[in-house]
Amino acid sequence: MRYYIQTFGCQMNENDSRHIASLLASAGHKPCLQTEEADIIIVNTCCVRESAENRAVGFIGSLKHLKENNPELIIVVCGCMSQKDGNANMLASKYRHIGIIIGTFAISFLPQYIEEYAATGKRIIDITERYDMEEPSYGSLNSTINEQYRAQVNINFGCNNFCTYCIVPYVRGRERSRKPEDIISEIKQLASSGVKEVQLLGQNVNSYGKDMNGNNWDFAQLLIAINDINGIERIRYMTSHPRDFDQRLAEIIAKLPKVCSHFHLPVQSGCDRILKLMNRGYTTDEYKQKIGIIRQLIPDATITTDLIVGFPGENDNDFNQTLQFLQDIEFDAAYTFIYSKRSGTIAADLPNHIPEQIKKERLQILMDIQNQISLKLNRKLVGTTQEVMIDGISKNREDMLSGRTSGNKIVVFPLREKNIWHPGDLIPIKINSAQTWNLVGQYSD
Ligand code: SF4
Repeated sequence: MRYYIQTFGCQMNENDSRHIASLLASAGHKPCLQTEEADIIIVNTCCVRESAENRAVGFIGSLKHLKENNPELIIVVCGCMSQKDGNANMLASKYRHIGIIIGTFAISFLPQYIEEYAATGKRIIDITERYDMEEPSYGSLNSTINEQYRAQVNINFGCNNFCTYCIVPYVRGRERSRKPEDIISEIKQLASSGVKEVQLLGQNVNSYGKDMNGNNWDFAQLLIAINDINGIERIRYMTSHPRDFDQRLAEIIAKLPKVCSHFHLPVQSGCDRILKLMNRGYTTDEYKQKIGIIRQLIPDATITTDLIVGFPGENDNDFNQTLQFLQDIEFDAAYTFIYSKRSGTIAADLPNHIPEQIKKERLQILMDIQNQISLKLNRKLVGTTQEVMIDGISKNREDMLSGRTSGNKIVVFPLREKNIWHPGDLIPIKINSAQTWNLVGQYSD
């Protein structure tokens, strides 16, 4: 059968979709590019923000006429939205055309459920939380479905932090770390098939191993082991929790040549009162100390963050503290979000929700300041030579190549005639000019 996957949400979901594709390929199914050509349509949903949920629901609704025209069509809804309390029943009763609804713990059963549904036509719902499985969500990774030179590898699943605004612990469950030997053997396999850069994925990679009783592995040890794998040239990871980031980890990263000099530490707010309401587990001073450690050990590190504006009760003074914090730290980039009320979280029931217009104004102010800082820091790189891993032809200019520095900054540079290049090649590029979101350079030879 031919399958089509529509993915909403974050990198974890994108990675889950790649695993679903891998599982379906192993079961003999083939991908297609349009919903109209598909025998199976998989909607991998997200509920972290209201906008993502609305888009997923809109897409599910739009599939009704396809099912009417083709009664054999199998429509699957999976991901965070279906795992969330009460949603599976709501989806099942509102959208009769959905055949299979599975949560985030049941991905590995999908090929079997598709077979069952195709044979019986009876709707299947599985949102069971499974903590006793060897591999919490899926089996071994099929490297052929990743970009040839780059792969994403889950190292842990779920989250124990319960930040008050976040739905993730409710839809992805408690923290479960994959066995180090499985991760390492998977990455060795990827390296032998030509992968040069791995990105380790988890809701909180810094807490890797904490759930493995009697096992001494932690995130730092995992990085050391992966750094030793022949063929792997760059190691990235996403995402970190500042509370679990410490001096020892920074010291180890500083000594590992393959671990990229990019630290993404989501701070979420620059105001202690709001951080406490968010249950983030650190103060702005503690966060600043951690940034100080990174900058002392790795002076050229790129440091990026996530910020939420308009958390319930955030007043002008709180917001101004965040602006000041932004200017004090000077992040290379900040991914800024408007607070989105998620039912079932503690923050949803807090008083004094902020009007949308104020949230939008605050977001714009924050972005304007951050853009100035990003441009200023990028300009400091003009004249330096950076090692760039080539991604391919630039999306905006056919005569330019695009790649990334170790610090994850995008660099574009001319595509020279008769120039032999491959995605994943590492080349030195001299930076000639800087923009807010990228750098422009030339071959340094
Ligand atoms: S650390 Fe906080 S924000 Fe991140 S996934 Fe866990 S609960 Fe959500």
